[in-house]
Amino acid sequence: MDYSSLGQLLRSAQQDEAEAKRRKLTLYFISYVGGTIMAIMAWLNVGTNNPLLVGALTISTVVIYANVALSHVFPKSDVCYYIGGLIVLFTINVLVYTGGLNNTGLYFIYPLLFVQIIVVRFKPAMLYVSVTMGLAVVMLFNQEKIAAQYPDEHVSRFLISTFCFICIAFIGENFWHQSRKEMLKENLERMRQANTDPLTKLPNRRFLEAVFFEKAMQDPATYFPLSAVVVDIDHFKRINDSYGHDVGDQVLIHITDTMKKAVRSTDVVARTGGEEFLVLFPHATLTQAVKLAEKMRRLIEERPFVAGDINHPITASFGVATALTDTNLHASLKQADDNLYKAKNAGRNRVME
Ligand code: GH3
Ligand code: MG
Ligand code: MG
Repeated sequence: MDYSSLGQLLRSAQQDEAEAKRRKLTLYFISYVGGTIMAIMAWLNVGTNNPLLVGALTISTVVIYANVALSHVFPKSDVCYYIGGLIVLFTINVLVYTGGLNNTGLYFIYPLLFVQIIVVRFKPAMLYVSVTMGLAVVMLFNQEKIAAQYPDEHVSRFLISTFCFICIAFIGENFWHQSRKEMLKENLERMRQANTDPLTKLPNRRFLEAVFFEKAMQDPATYFPLSAVVVDIDHFKRINDSYGHDVGDQVLIHITDTMKKAVRSTDVVARTGGEEFLVLFPHATLTQAVKLAEKMRRLIEERPFVAGDINHPITASFGVATALTDTNLHASLKQADDNLYKAKNAGRNRVME
């Protein structure tokens, strides 16, 4: 696995969970509170000789509750936010058209616009607000065609103050999103460092436990059967003893390079100990994994470590096991370890299953 896909897995692991929760709770809160307020408004307007307003407020109330019920049924879907934005578009324009109670409907447009800006995502919200206010402006400048009557100076003050309000709301949202993005980026970088081995730049054991296995458990159909290959360099201590620790480090990088050449980008090569690696093949049978391990073994054997006047043959031993389901993952890792032990005892430079 290359560094970018490690990044990808880390990103998806921290993927905006907090933000998704915030939006969901915002939608619930606004819908329940807003829906109830609309219902009360509809009730208060009954008998004020404004049946259009009462009808529209009632429709809005029903759609708001239906929409929030839908978002409980499909919690992963984004559609509810967009429907929420459309309800606001409809309500605002009904208020402008009817004038609300005694032509005071315009006052309610500020909180409604704010709802639209925070419920719909930042960029689509710009479109929603533009369309909503575009329709409102057309009506305000063609008052002979609508039910409400607004004095001219009210219309101009309303439009100026609404414009200021929209700008301030979007600027606030924009800065909030920017700082959130920065925080996510810093967090990702910290996670990347904590999950990476500094010498080989391979993912480490922590990554496997905290990110990769978690993801596999959440999506077993994609990952299982999951084959594990434990790799241990043969007589590595002799390399350190003969050429020094720094050359030993170079050999670890050389081996990393060789193993990465043998695997696909969806496979994971991790450094789990000093000269020990764990290679994971998602959706691979034991037979396939043994073949891949054999390919790695051969490549390592064929590529001696060469640097200056050092030309040292390298071999490694391999233990393979396959977890058919997520329930026997840890047992399979243990099995792969045992098989590595067998490979060492059988004379090293071999694959055991
Ligand atoms: P075997 O074939 O049985 O695996 O023998 P071995 O010599 O490879 O295994 P052993 O466990 O005896 O020695 C492993 C050595 O790896 C000992 C340790 O000093 C060395 N080692 C561990 N981590 C590093 C590292 O990051 N860099 C270097 N250069 N050496 C390391
Ligand atoms: Mg070893
Ligand atoms: Mg070892």
